[in-house]
Amino acid sequence: MSKNPNKFFVTTPIYYVNDVPHIGHAYTTIAADVIARYKRSEGYDVFFLTGTDEHGQKVQQAARDLGVEPQAHVDKLHERFKELWVRFNTSHNDFIRTTEERHKQVVRAILQDLFACGQIYKDSYEGWYCTPCERFWTEKDLLEGHCPECKRAVTQIEESNYFFKMGQYGKWLEEHIRTHERFILPASRRNEVLGFLARPLGDLCISRPKARLPWGIPLPFDEEYVTYVWFDALINYISIHGHLKDIHASGYWPADYHLVGKDILTTHSVYWPTMLKASGLEPPTTIFAHGWWTVNGQKMSKSLRNVVEPNHLIDRFGVDAIRYFLMREVPFGMDGDFSHKALIGRINSDLANNLGNLLNRTLNMIDRYHDGCIPAPVEPQKNDKLKCEFLETVPQIHELYRELAYNKILERIWKLVDTANKWIDSNAPWNLVKTEEGKQELASVMYNTAESLRAIAILIYPFMPATGEKIMQQLGIQTPIEQQGIGSILTWNGTPPGTRINPGPQLFPRIEDKEAEKILASVQSAASAPADTAPADTAAATTEGVPEEKDLISIEDFMKIDLRTGKIVEAEKVKKSKKLVQLKVDIGNGEVRQVLAGIATAYEPAQLVGRTIILVANLKPAKLMGIESQGMVLAGSENDRIVLAGFDQTLAEGVRIK
Ligand SMILES: [Zn+2]
Repeated sequence: MSKNPNKFFVTTPIYYVNDVPHIGHAYTTIAADVIARYKRSEGYDVFFLTGTDEHGQKVQQAARDLGVEPQAHVDKLHERFKELWVRFNTSHNDFIRTTEERHKQVVRAILQDLFACGQIYKDSYEGWYCTPCERFWTEKDLLEGHCPECKRAVTQIEESNYFFKMGQYGKWLEEHIRTHERFILPASRRNEVLGFLARPLGDLCISRPKARLPWGIPLPFDEEYVTYVWFDALINYISIHGHLKDIHASGYWPADYHLVGKDILTTHSVYWPTMLKASGLEPPTTIFAHGWWTVNGQKMSKSLRNVVEPNHLIDRFGVDAIRYFLMREVPFGMDGDFSHKALIGRINSDLANNLGNLLNRTLNMIDRYHDGCIPAPVEPQKNDKLKCEFLETVPQIHELYRELAYNKILERIWKLVDTANKWIDSNAPWNLVKTEEGKQELASVMYNTAESLRAIAILIYPFMPATGEKIMQQLGIQTPIEQQGIGSILTWNGTPPGTRINPGPQLFPRIEDKEAEKILASVQSAASAPADTAPADTAAATTEGVPEEKDLISIEDFMKIDLRTGKIVEAEKVKKSKKLVQLKVDIGNGEVRQVLAGIATAYEPAQLVGRTIILVANLKPAKLMGIESQGMVLAGSENDRIVLAGFDQTLAEGVRIK
């Protein structure tokens, strides 16, 4: 059995359960929801999958820090994603968790098969390991001794592990990418992966010793090891359909789209297709890598992430406005900027003015001129310009969906909104109503305006499902949108004449200037909040894999800093430096450190001798102005004022501070 042509399968990545859901996660899931809803209204049998990735070192560590079992930890954490998707009104058919039995069984079955046919072997491995990335690196992979991916410190490691013979599929994969233009989109990303494959593809380490990392799926052929998280996680896309034979029978495989952030493109376009190939399954049809978001022009640090915390955004602006903005503002595949100013602009112009106004004036006129019932058009109609424009646009929209050009689709739809507004203006119903002959034409004009609103509701429904439904309700049309289908636009005349309209509240109330100013001011203050000082490497505005926890440290982390009391026994200004003072600090047990401190503008050397200060005693020595400094003195500064940290009672030298 192969792919059933009536079935459509779209996925988001399974999100790392430790992450706090942010706007990047919402972006991917909404994008998947749009294509899923579109395909359903085209008549496809759609399967839309999302879920959470719940194994691995970071989860184990986070659970340990909280003193709970990993399973209890993920049982609680994954709810945040589930709840957010309910709020965002996404229409996923299933939510998979990698700790579920249905998933674990398939992972183990696939591993067992690959092991049995010699695709997996055991080898001892010597190299460097990056804990946050959970990846091994060879000496030559390292960048100045650091992880080439996250630039953090790596640790040397030697252990035996199991390897998947990925290397033998390098040529096949390259050929597949070259002969399948739509396999990796956008094209720029495709070239990136081809560049990666220009070097020989190595084998993939797919195990972690249980002794070091127990939180994972045990290998079926060696219980001393658990499965590498990526090997485990990627299988979610097929485990949802059951065991290998069931996947074929399901008719959903290969997946039509895996939507991913650009940071996880390699795992999806290299590991995953080779894993499938080895298991006798076809690769997915398209892997689409989208971009990252900044916030108001800045990288997404913790305080800025709060500003675009998805639940806050929904509370403030409403679900559909956020869905619209994310899909409209930036071409899918490019990086984008989440600007509150731009968002308010779009709400006021596109949503309140153009769309909201079209609905309101249409309903008002039907109410006034036709007693609240949509009139029947009088045949033959003199003027079918409006209809023609819709019929021409629908095929263009189908074409744009193939490229996932969401922003252009919305542009086209809004052109139709403009056309409908202009159509009303040019036909001037308020004049037609004055004469008997005009009234005949008026009925046709109003019918076609109502029909254009019905079409617009169908077209915007994938992007703004609740808004599409509200427009239908206000028009008084009972048939559910997905049942009407996009195809019904082409036959036109889908609005039953005589339908009683049902006007309701405004779709999108305007955000008045005063309110807008208030919102922008609060965003400004968050952007300049002191919490926004994360170093560059943690401030990446990524859509995946930026755990909020990264901004928090564990008690173990804190205890790595050796803080001690020290008594200043000597102090002198450093020549040619305005700021530096050279100190000799007694930290007990007969140890005296030479320390440089940037406090010369605040303290005279004589004031310093005899003071007890707090010293970071295990800081790597560094040279300043040619003098070695063997520690750091703690002080606070406020504008130009510098104040040394100290104690309100005396303490001996060398006391550990915690
Ligand atoms: Zn790393």
